[in-house]
Amino acid sequence: MGKPTGFLEEERRGLEYRDPAERIKDWKQTALIVPEQELQSQASRCMDCGIPFCMNPNSGRGGCPLGNIIPDWNDLVYRGKWEDAMARLHSTNNFPEFTGSICPAPCEEACCVAYNSDAVTIKNVELGIVERGWSSNWIKPITPVRRSGRSVAVVGSGPAGLAAAQQLCRAGHSVTVFEKSDRIGGLLRYGIPEFKMEKWVIDRRLEQMKAEGVSFQTGVNVGVDLTAADLRKSFDAILLCMGAEDGRDLPVEGRDLDGIHFAMDFLPQQNKRCHGDTIDADISIDAKGKHVIVLGGGDTGSDCVGTSLRQGAKSVTSIELLERPPEEPPSTTPWPMWRMIYRSSSSHDEGGTREFSLMTKRCVGKRGRVEKIQGVEVRFGPPDASGRPVMEEVPEGDFELPADLVLLAMGFLGPVHEGLLDDLGIEYDPRGHIKATSEEYATSEPGIFAAGDCRRGQSLVVWAISEGREAARQVDTYLMGQSRLPSRNNPGNAPR
Ligand SMILES: Cc1cc2nc3c(=O)[nH]c(=O)nc-3n(C[C@H](O)[C@H](O)[C@H](O)COP(=O)(O)OP(=O)(O)OC[C@H]3O[C@@H](n4cnc5c(N)ncnc54)[C@H](O)[C@@H]3O)c2cc1C
Ligand code: SF4
Repeated sequence: MGKPTGFLEEERRGLEYRDPAERIKDWKQTALIVPEQELQSQASRCMDCGIPFCMNPNSGRGGCPLGNIIPDWNDLVYRGKWEDAMARLHSTNNFPEFTGSICPAPCEEACCVAYNSDAVTIKNVELGIVERGWSSNWIKPITPVRRSGRSVAVVGSGPAGLAAAQQLCRAGHSVTVFEKSDRIGGLLRYGIPEFKMEKWVIDRRLEQMKAEGVSFQTGVNVGVDLTAADLRKSFDAILLCMGAEDGRDLPVEGRDLDGIHFAMDFLPQQNKRCHGDTIDADISIDAKGKHVIVLGGGDTGSDCVGTSLRQGAKSVTSIELLERPPEEPPSTTPWPMWRMIYRSSSSHDEGGTREFSLMTKRCVGKRGRVEKIQGVEVRFGPPDASGRPVMEEVPEGDFELPADLVLLAMGFLGPVHEGLLDDLGIEYDPRGHIKATSEEYATSEPGIFAAGDCRRGQSLVVWAISEGREAARQVDTYLMGQSRLPSRNNPGNAPR
């Protein structure tokens, strides 16, 4: 621990953002870069607490899912040992530039300083370390000493697939990543908007992975362009990292009107435009000059808000079925848990209106196009026998809102079953995700493993990276009888 009194002397200074009025005129990243000197003084607030809940993924949904060794790198940063800090950080996280940009930082919820003060700015320090690594040219390809002669197919190139591919390649296996989209990255590329994380950040890391020997094949929809049988025949092991792409629909009257779309039909189009692609007019979805309704209040919904505002929407209203969370943490989520409190994203700070406790009952339109939505206010009573709070409609709580564009951002049901998964004969868990434990990552089919959102359900980038790393170790063990790849519980022998 560098500075024993750091947390007493320094105040938390979190991220600063560009002026909302300015930033909604472009697609560039909203967060400002924190100067290194400032990061060093923030890192000095880490108090050597003895039991760092911040790095324990079991701290009641607080704590880092990767088991990042946070106190070590805070100390190294404070002492100006940036290269050592970078090595420590990479020993548990393949892509700190992704998490340092877009992780909701459950580590900070579990930080011991946060018990009665403001948490250490862990995420900003993480980003500062890795960016220092890139700018100093310390991040180089790491090639394996020996090749194993074994081959692995990774299906899906989101954070889970990428983390697994890098680990397996470093273990000496010949790794091919198949991606049905035209570019690599999964939701990092075609979901998360440019203003949250610019896409050159992915390309920079892909260059390292290609130099290490990972082979990428885009535009290959496995199960269609390459059959399940061919995949089995051509590879010694298969790792499914296909995400949870099946979006939750809105089964109400008027759903089939034009102008009602899944968020994931809307957001990727803007990512493509930012890449310089042209979207065909007959499929283009654009919020310009429209009253936009966003149904669903999570990350996807908030990204729809920021994107609609940048496209020039006339109004943006996001609607959440659940009640507005409290400002103060309820007793059910004490430290070090993830607090169930009202939070607003950088997109919410840019404009639009947020409504809670509203249920949409129908979409109404003319000449086949949506013009408004109608619904009712709801309230939640005490839980029923199954533990779920009972929802009831508020008498005379009817509402109506103008709607030229309705975006459905109500979550994801799981991976798409038809095609590859059914063809492989994969078993599902009761929620429809791929059945595989978080220890073994093995599916019901020998030699086939699963990680990320397709296994655990819609989650976070940090969890996808964590699952990719853990699953890689299991695949390596399956192929070689043992593995030297690191795991959450044993990060020590990581390749640097
Ligand atoms: C709009 C949005 C915003 C988000 N914002 C955040 C955020 O700010 N912070 C955060 O931590 N998390 C965020 N998340 C969640 C996060 O993006 C996901 O949890 C994470 O990307 C899951 O990673 P994954 O690798 O499991 O799957 P994905 O990233 O979904 O990648 C799966 C890939 O598999 C490909 N694929 C599927 N089937 C096939 C097939 N048959 N053949 C070939 N390829 C196939 C898909 O095309 C896709 O590229 C967000 C999610 C969404 C939808
Ligand atoms: S990956 Fe997320 S949870 Fe882990 S240290 Fe970084 S910001 Fe915190």
